[in-house]
Amino acid sequence: MSENWADYVPRLEELARRLGLDWSPVTFEAVPDSFMTEIAVYGLPVRMPHWSFGARYIYQLVQRHMGYSRLFEVVFPGNPGHAYLASSNGLADNILVTAHVLGHADFSRNNLLFRRCQEQVSEHIVEHAASHARQIERDIESHGTAAVEQVLDAALSLEQYVDVDQPLRRERYPEYLEKPVPPVDDEFRARYVALDAAAESAWQPRKQRAPVPPHPERDLLWFIATYAPEMESWERDIFLAVREESFYFYPVYATQIMNEGWASYWHARLLREADFVPQAAYVDAIKCHSDVVRPIAAGEQVALSVNPYHLGFTLWEQIFKEAGLPTARAAMRQDDDFSFVRNHLTRELASQMGLFQYRRQDNGQVRVQAEDIDELRESLLIDKYNFGAPRVSVAEMRNDGTLVLEHQSRIDGRGLEVERARHVLEYVQRVWRRPVRVQTVDAALQTLQLAAGDS
Ligand SMILES: [Zn+2]
Repeated sequence: MSENWADYVPRLEELARRLGLDWSPVTFEAVPDSFMTEIAVYGLPVRMPHWSFGARYIYQLVQRHMGYSRLFEVVFPGNPGHAYLASSNGLADNILVTAHVLGHADFSRNNLLFRRCQEQVSEHIVEHAASHARQIERDIESHGTAAVEQVLDAALSLEQYVDVDQPLRRERYPEYLEKPVPPVDDEFRARYVALDAAAESAWQPRKQRAPVPPHPERDLLWFIATYAPEMESWERDIFLAVREESFYFYPVYATQIMNEGWASYWHARLLREADFVPQAAYVDAIKCHSDVVRPIAAGEQVALSVNPYHLGFTLWEQIFKEAGLPTARAAMRQDDDFSFVRNHLTRELASQMGLFQYRRQDNGQVRVQAEDIDELRESLLIDKYNFGAPRVSVAEMRNDGTLVLEHQSRIDGRGLEVERARHVLEYVQRVWRRPVRVQTVDAALQTLQLAAGDS
């Protein structure tokens, strides 16, 4: 029996195909642990350089593990997809990771949100991101590190502010208000107009400029790149590059529970049915699997966050058991985490999983009370809205170029972290080059005006 994990890839793929999985080709590559850490931190194998990626180090280090196991998972959906395995992993680890990656590859090829975003961004994001990084290196040569960093500070501080319901390549807003509906086109009026040229101009009022934006605009990256009064074209390109990468990351974010659950369901199922895996490796892999889908981290006294692997895995197991493969695949195609949790997390299941104890109070404490399933579902989802960021839109661009942002605190029900918001405003003001303001509420929900660049 072979001890090389790569020999198991084609056999796992064949089994997966037989069980109905359908994916674009994936390249598997074993890389040193240090490289794994680096790509986990940057989010992509080669990405634009920026100090904030260093600040994400700890967070990503925890997040990119498979659930609460020690295994890293790093897979980039696309066509082909790219999967990286830590070369320090044992045979059983890598068999598990390979099976898990096939589940992700099936998910990202078939889930509609993934498809829509990938069709717009291109299926070659890894290559795209690398070309963004090269462009930024050229920018640094031409304009200097400080100038480029300033633009990246601003763009990356707004990376969650995209609107994936709009196309990636958007047109500017119409410049003029639509003409008023022309008067009734009857014969009498036609003759009357023909008789009097002055009357004609009265019937066709001069064109009126439309306000910018015509409605609250959520895509701050696009708006600033498109309407900033004095931004240079290389600066706009950086904003649009960051925006494109956000379009790529959004589906990963918005389907995390169902996607990790799906991959975990399939790695468990493939392992169970893979009679070619040696017994010892099988036992090790199953042990690893139970770490991945453990409800809470060992040693944590109070778990305030649910392990998405555990939640997703349990929901998918139930769906497969009750409704079968075709129904499960239909849900996988259509849902995102919001509809998935609302449609499939039943009261019974939540109570079985002990989820009711996770409900948080405003002060962050856990409480156990009457088991309200709707409230539980929403408390699992609330942090996921709007890419996990407070909902801030462009409200107005004034004649003097002042940019007025508005935090819709009533929609997202949370305050801004004032210090962070001040930093972001300063970053944005440096590229907008005119005053920038935001109306918001603080943590205590008191109304607050922040401004940068006012004379
Ligand atoms: Zn995964």
